This record gives sequence, C-alpha cells and structure tokens, in this order.
Amino acid sequence: MTQLDVTLLQEAAAALRGTLNGIAVTGAGISVDSGIPDFRSADGLWAKYDPTEYATMDAFLQNPDKVWEMWYALADTLKGVSPNPAHLALAHLEELGHIKAVITQNIDALHHHAGSKTVIEYHGNADTIVCPACNRRRPMDLSQRVLGAPRCECGGYMKPDVILFGEIISEYALTTAERLARGCDVMLVIGTSATVFPAASLPYLAKEGGATVIECNIEPTAFSNTVSDIFLQGRAAVVLPELLKWVEA
Ligand code: ZN
Repeated sequence: MTQLDVTLLQEAAAALRGTLNGIAVTGAGISVDSGIPDFRSADGLWAKYDPTEYATMDAFLQNPDKVWEMWYALADTLKGVSPNPAHLALAHLEELGHIKAVITQNIDALHHHAGSKTVIEYHGNADTIVCPACNRRRPMDLSQRVLGAPRCECGGYMKPDVILFGEIISEYALTTAERLARGCDVMLVIGTSATVFPAASLPYLAKEGGATVIECNIEPTAFSNTVSDIFLQGRAAVVLPELLKWVEA
C-alpha cells in the first residue's frame, strides 16, 4: 500500500467538514476487510457458482433449490462477519451530519450493522427473504436451514431478498440514489470499480451537479482520471478512519 498523502486527506476532510449534504457510494471493496471476498474475484462466490446458472430469476422459477444451494454457500461467507472500521467511519460521518446517506451495491447489510441510518441498497440485503408470489418478507436465520428452498405460508417458495440477475432494481432505490447523487455537494466513492451500473453512473451525476468527488480505492479506476477530485489510495478500512480523524481534528 502506498503511503497516504496527508495533504490529500486534509483536503478531503475539509470538503466533508464544510458540508451537510454529502453522500457515500460503496461497493464490494469496503467489505473485503470484513472477510467477504468480492464475488467477482478469483476466490469469490461466482468462481464456484456461475451466476448465469445459479443466480438468475429463471433459475429460481425453474429450480429454486439450485438458487438456495448458492445462497447457503453465500450465507457461509457472511456468517459471523462484522462491520470494519470503514463501515463504522461512515456511520460516524452520518452521525456528525456530514453525509446523509450511503448508497451501496453490497448485500451484506454491514452498513446497517455499523449504525448507518439511511442506506440505499440497490440489490437488497441478505438479512431477509421474500416470497415473490405474495411479497411476504421474513428475517433470514442462517442457523435455521431447511433442505432446499424454504416455503412461504402461502405455499410458494421463498427467495433471498436480493436482486437476482434478470430482476429489476427497485424504482425507489434507483430514483432515490439518482436524486441524492444529483443533489449532493460531496460524494465519497469507496471500494467500487466503476464498472457496474447504475452505481457506476452516480459519480458522474454528482460531478455534473458540481460536487466534489472523493474516491477511495486500492487501485485507480475509470473514475480516478475523470471525475475524482481527490483520490485516496488504499484499503477503505485504513483510509476512512484516517479521514474521519482529520474531519474531527
Ligand atoms: Zn407467499
């Protein structure tokens, strides 16, 4: 990891201190330090379970047990994980009033567990399951496993309450995220590689609206030389607590 540039941290902290209208956009990179490998990485979930076979709405409709096989493997990865210092720093920034929402691509619910109050989750989260037939939701208890897909009271099969491939992101998440991005004056972009839409479009919307874009990633991304005003290179779990210290200094 490269040495964190103090000048950049101070610049980023000054931008955050000066706003009550900031937001954060997070991706898989923020949860890596909680022990959750990026699904797309070599040891991630998709290496073992081809998402086009296991994580689609078609797969669920044809053979829900198959989706649940993948889901239980995912549940094993999520079991016992807790928020890391990056999640906690974002919750603290919200408490201080400097950011008013977190928009995330992650389904691990770690922003909620860290204490963030306003969290927009594009893809849902792993804490609940849903019945597509009647829309009943219930908490997902990882220790209460049944063989195959759990049943709903209505007789239908329950589905993990996340967006499978072939499903559409909720209108609420889409429009809220877009509105927040257009209206913010500081955007923190953390652990996301600028490749997956719609999250990838948010920094551009923020920039169009005149916001300062602060990026924190391990490696430069497509944002770094285009929309990012400040690039903080490093692991989120290291950079975010440092940034928070400067905000509070
Ligand atoms: Zn039902």
